[in-house]
Amino acid sequence: MFLLLLVLTGVNAQDSTVKKYGQLVTAADLKEYLTIIASDALEGRKTGSRGQKMAAAFIAAHFEEHGLQGPVNGSYFQPVTLYTSGIPEVAFTTGGAALKENDEFAYFGSGDTGGLLELPLVFAGRGAEGDLSQVDVKGKAAVAFLEADASLRNNPTMARLREKEARLVVLVMNSDEDFKTMAGQLRMFAGGRMSLTKGSASANLGLFLLSPTAAGKIFKSTPEKLKKSADDKALAKVKPSTLAVTVSQKHKEIKSDNVLGFLEGTDKKDEVIVITAHYDHVGMRSSGEGDLIYNGADDDGSGTVSVMALAKAFAQAKKDGKGPRRSILFMTVTGEEEGLLGSQYYADTNPVFPLDKTVVNLNIDMVGRRDPQHKDSAPYVYVIGSDKLSTELHTLSEDVNKKYTNLIFDYTYNDQNHPERLYYRSDHWNFAKKNIPIIFYFDGIHEDYHQPSDEVDKIEFDLMTQRAQLIFYTAWEIANREKRIVPDAK
Ligand SMILES: [Zn+2]
Repeated sequence: MFLLLLVLTGVNAQDSTVKKYGQLVTAADLKEYLTIIASDALEGRKTGSRGQKMAAAFIAAHFEEHGLQGPVNGSYFQPVTLYTSGIPEVAFTTGGAALKENDEFAYFGSGDTGGLLELPLVFAGRGAEGDLSQVDVKGKAAVAFLEADASLRNNPTMARLREKEARLVVLVMNSDEDFKTMAGQLRMFAGGRMSLTKGSASANLGLFLLSPTAAGKIFKSTPEKLKKSADDKALAKVKPSTLAVTVSQKHKEIKSDNVLGFLEGTDKKDEVIVITAHYDHVGMRSSGEGDLIYNGADDDGSGTVSVMALAKAFAQAKKDGKGPRRSILFMTVTGEEEGLLGSQYYADTNPVFPLDKTVVNLNIDMVGRRDPQHKDSAPYVYVIGSDKLSTELHTLSEDVNKKYTNLIFDYTYNDQNHPERLYYRSDHWNFAKKNIPIIFYFDGIHEDYHQPSDEVDKIEFDLMTQRAQLIFYTAWEIANREKRIVPDAK
């Protein structure tokens, strides 16, 4: 009886310790940090901008103030060099005649041919399976009609042509009018795409679009005849031609940083838990009316300041002699909005701590708001990915929530086949790719997503605090349990 009582006392003491530190994650702190991170002065924190560098300096100063270590040779900054493509210069000549950009053809991509590229040009109908058994597109420029109403994103025709190893994919719009509309839209996205490499003379040369009239011209035919050949599967009727194309890019170097604060564990310090959020956002509109600054208070100011608050709480525990057994890396990453680039740089090529000692990644991307589906809901959070690689992690996540926070866990977006594909859309994905168990915390898609109206005054700080505390308790449990969380056997 006495012994049992001792054990119970022990457990309770442990619980109250955890809660004591969890409660150091406060709405007041979150609000104070976010008011700075999402202020207009930081100009939307576009990767490489001065506003983003101000955010980086603020986060690093916070880590320093709370006694975290800079793990990158003593620094809090891990430099990440990125390259922005300029507006590509494109020439498209067929049968000796140059087509006019934006009138007859449009280009979308950040490829580079590294000089003049000459290719046989073949007509591939609608690029369907049946068409591709009639015509060999390998190593050639393949021209195919776009399926009606198909979007260019993840376009199946394009995918099939690439699969058959077409060197260049040229899609023909169904009407000249459609072409004009699409070309106008593509121009708005031309250039300015960031990547980790210069992508020169790249294998993927991007996508060319043609107006049907131009396609007729290329094959010395008419749009109607071409369509008929496609419909009749009579592709041999269309004589191949040749294409000479150049795409050239001038790349600008962008200097940016991941910002890392490290808290060393005690008896299991070689094992590391990585808690991430991206501190970049999409910057400013260059012209126009009204509010031009994309403050990104929710995306992902909310995650960034949650990481800062967790760092402070864990650091205090350590000062009091209650520090975590495993180490914790608090990492705010750059380039997420450009394609998860900062976390890719870390996980693919430059991990500061060995990936095989990296136990879990907890990623926080948008935790300060409600989506319309949860307008009147009790406190909730979308939990994504917890069961994908480690059943243990999933169970722990559920248990911790039941014990400490009792949020509603919404698993809607956990489905890898959900059309929003959220499992692939934030920084945790770069860890999941390496078979490191992850959890991604998310509040949903709301009307201010990627709008200048994603502002601090729309954040629900009490709800956000509960979510941040949940992540604190989850990290605490992972850091302090006897056995390391491991991925399921495959
Ligand atoms: Zn985000």
